[in-house]
Amino acid sequence: MSTKSREYLFGSSVRAKSDEATRARKSADRLACEAWNARMLGFRGPAQPSPAIGDALNGGYGYLEVRCLGCNTHQTVALGIIRRPKTTPVHELERYMRCKECSEQRRYPYKRSQLIALRPNKISADTPASKMWPGDRD
Ligand SMILES: [Zn+2]
Repeated sequence: MSTKSREYLFGSSVRAKSDEATRARKSADRLACEAWNARMLGFRGPAQPSPAIGDALNGGYGYLEVRCLGCNTHQTVALGIIRRPKTTPVHELERYMRCKECSEQRRYPYKRSQLIALRPNKISADTPASKMWPGDRD
């Protein structure tokens, strides 16, 4: 049997299975993010275990919402541009987050923050945190 006929016989079913696996992985990643969000917003944690950066991105959650404990502002961090391996669990980012404003004011890197939730988009005037996450008590 030549490669060509193998492709003819199995090509479409191999592709269909592969597509199905991709879809299943995406929805599993999305559900894992939703489960983590539900725990964070409902019980305030524990943040550990958490989805990996790559899984969150794959599940459609490109941003992590963080609250700075210094100035009490909520900020979003784009997961796609963080220079960490995609296998890094999201909760591990907590100790790396630095608030620019608080750091400038205190003249040292201010890194005290609290993870809030994963978000599909950035916080903006159109999608304030309270609107997007009615479960959040802040
Ligand atoms: Zn701050």
